[in-house]
Amino acid sequence: MEDLIIIGGGPGGLTAGLYAARSRLKTLLLEKLSPGGQVLLTDMVENYPGFPDGISGFELVDRMKRQAENFGLNIQNQGVVRLNLSAEKKEVITDAGPLETKALILTSGAMPRKLAIDGEERLTGKGVSYCATCDGPFYRDQEVAVVGGGDTAVEEALYLTRFASKVYLVHRRNELRATKLLQERAFSQEKLAFAWDSIPTRILGDGAVQGIELKNVKTGILSTLQVEGVFVFIGYDANNELVKGQLELDAQGFVITNNDMEASIPGVFAAGDIRSKLLRQISTAVGEGATAAFAAERYLENMT
Ligand code: NAP
Repeated sequence: MEDLIIIGGGPGGLTAGLYAARSRLKTLLLEKLSPGGQVLLTDMVENYPGFPDGISGFELVDRMKRQAENFGLNIQNQGVVRLNLSAEKKEVITDAGPLETKALILTSGAMPRKLAIDGEERLTGKGVSYCATCDGPFYRDQEVAVVGGGDTAVEEALYLTRFASKVYLVHRRNELRATKLLQERAFSQEKLAFAWDSIPTRILGDGAVQGIELKNVKTGILSTLQVEGVFVFIGYDANNELVKGQLELDAQGFVITNNDMEASIPGVFAAGDIRSKLLRQISTAVGEGATAAFAAERYLENMT
């Protein structure tokens, strides 16, 4: 029986693990892939305090992982297939078998939202991508489209200008949602062009992307951009499959917690991108991870 199981090895989970290990709780962090989460898909992190010159997403989480392990955190590569949270002892069924824990911190994050249009699924990996850091270098001197108007879309569109000859940013309104600093950079980047008030209706191509069909939401007029890559950054959906029907979720499917990160079942906490909140950042995830571990320790102390 573990004192604490943490599900997910992004910044929130690794920070919870660091604090729990330092509190000498018998803690296990489960991660189905390698620790890191969405940050691994980020080329350069510029707004995590303490790194004035920026730091690569990979290096930042590698440092977090090593720091937590230095204090004794046990990290295991196991996928969680089911959770049973109804009893006081929480059951965590992984692909390697069942585990029991007194407290649980859910840091399973979020995954890129899909456009759900014709051609998207068929051409994923054949020109449709959700990761510019992974796939950007394949588009040297080619034209690509980026869909979305938030921080991720603008940041990744700017990154893609390093490789692509032209990057079209397709946004459904005529104003970006991204933070002003990123907007300034985007508007002064000559390789970036904007398709305003436009939503993608189809991604074209057989074995590889050949273009994207757009509909102007104001005029209804259809047009086609001839691009070889389509990068989709239209937000994230919570990885909530394990807790749907067990924990209280908000309308978008994110886990609702109190200020101590405790979810609707005592002893179950959530931190990072899976949590219902205003701002999804590495800096917010680490603070929540620390709070969740501290609150879990309090919970364990008060158990009979
Ligand atoms: P986001 O802020 O939710 O933005 C999603 C964008 O996609 C919005 O512009 C939205 O349009 C558009 N969109 C949503 N659904 C769409 C659909 N079905 N079809 C077409 N367009 C659609 O998501 P995000 O940019 O991934 O950012 C997520 C969180 O991470 C945010 O809190 C963000 O600040 C943070 N983040 C921060 C940084 C950074 O600080 N450097 C970098 C990346 C992400 P509307 O604008 O019309 O709603």
